Amino acid sequence: MKATLFYEHGGPEVLAYTDFPTPEPKAGEVLVRLRAAALNRMDVMVRNGWPGLKLELPHINGADGAGEIAALGDHVTEFKIGDRVTINANLGCGKCEFCSNAQDNMCREWHLLGETVRGTYAEYVSLPAHQLYKLPADFDLHAAAAASLVYLTAWHSMVRRGALNAGETVTIVGAGGGVNSASIQVAKYVGARIIVIGSNSQKLREAESLGADILIDRSRQEDWSKAVFTATGKRGADAVVDNVGTTFPLSLRALRKGGRLLTVGNSGGPRFEIDNRYIFAKHLSVIGSTMGTLADFKEVMDLVIAGKLKPVIDRTFSLKEAAAAQERLWRGENFGKITLDI
Ligand SMILES: [Zn+2]
Repeated sequence: MKATLFYEHGGPEVLAYTDFPTPEPKAGEVLVRLRAAALNRMDVMVRNGWPGLKLELPHINGADGAGEIAALGDHVTEFKIGDRVTINANLGCGKCEFCSNAQDNMCREWHLLGETVRGTYAEYVSLPAHQLYKLPADFDLHAAAAASLVYLTAWHSMVRRGALNAGETVTIVGAGGGVNSASIQVAKYVGARIIVIGSNSQKLREAESLGADILIDRSRQEDWSKAVFTATGKRGADAVVDNVGTTFPLSLRALRKGGRLLTVGNSGGPRFEIDNRYIFAKHLSVIGSTMGTLADFKEVMDLVIAGKLKPVIDRTFSLKEAAAAQERLWRGENFGKITLDI
C-alpha cells in the first residue's frame, strides 16, 4: 500500500510518501481501505518526538480516518465488505477494570491510533471491529474523518466530565483549531451561551458563524479575563474550555465562584505558573480528560450523522502532501479540520 511515514523524528522533511506492507486483519479486526484522514496537532508532536516516546519505526501518523471495509478478520459478524466506516482512535484493551466499567479512555494499556500505533496516513489500516462506526452510504468520508476525534474529545470533556448545561456561559480559549470549533458546536448544541477568545478578527468571525455569542479579540486586550467579567455582569463564566495551557492564569480569573476549567490539551505549552488561591478561594474545579469512551463516540457520531454537529473542513490535501498539510496546521492557519485525500 501507499503510506506517508517517517523513519526518524524531525521536521516535515522526514515524511516520505512510499510503499509499506498492507496490514493483515487479525481475529476480531477489520481492514479498512481509507479514503480520507484528518490531521491533529498530535500528529506533528509525534513526528517531532519527545523524550521517552518509543515507536516502532517507520511510524505512520494519523488518528482520524474514514473509508470502506476491504477485508474481515475471523469472528467479525457486525460488518460486511464495502461498509463505509469512520474510526474511533481511542484504543482500550477491552479487559481491564476501566474498560470493563465503560471508562475505556482510562484503560491501563491505553493507546491512541497514530500516536504509539501506526495510523491513518495510509491506504489501509486494520483495527478491532468495535473501534468502527458504520456510516450511511451517502455520508461524506472527509466529514466523517474530520468529525471523530474532535467531537469525541469535546463531548467527553464538556458534556460527560464538565456537565455543561443549557443557559450556562462557557468561555472557549482559541478560535481556530479543530477541538475549539467542535467545542463551539457542542456548547451550542447543549444550549450554552458562548464566549470565544480569538487571536484575530477573521477567526472570530468564523467562530461567530458556528454559534459563538460574544467575541473577544485577545490581540486588543491581553487580559481577556476582564472582558469575560464584563460580558457576564461581573459574575464570571460557569466553565472555561482551555486547551492552550499557558492561559490557565487568565482562565482561572475568568471563572465564576464554583466554576469549572476544562482541559484536554496544551497547545501553548505544558508548563506554566498558576496562583493556587484562585482555585480554593473561588471553589474552582480543574477537569482534565483525554479522548472519550466508546459510548461517547457512538453518541457524537449519531449527532454528526443527524446533522446536529457539522464538521468544519478547512482544506484538503493529497496523502503525498501530508508535510504541507502538517505545516499549515502547526502554523495555526486553519479554521476547522485539515484532511488528506487517500
Ligand atoms: Zn483496558
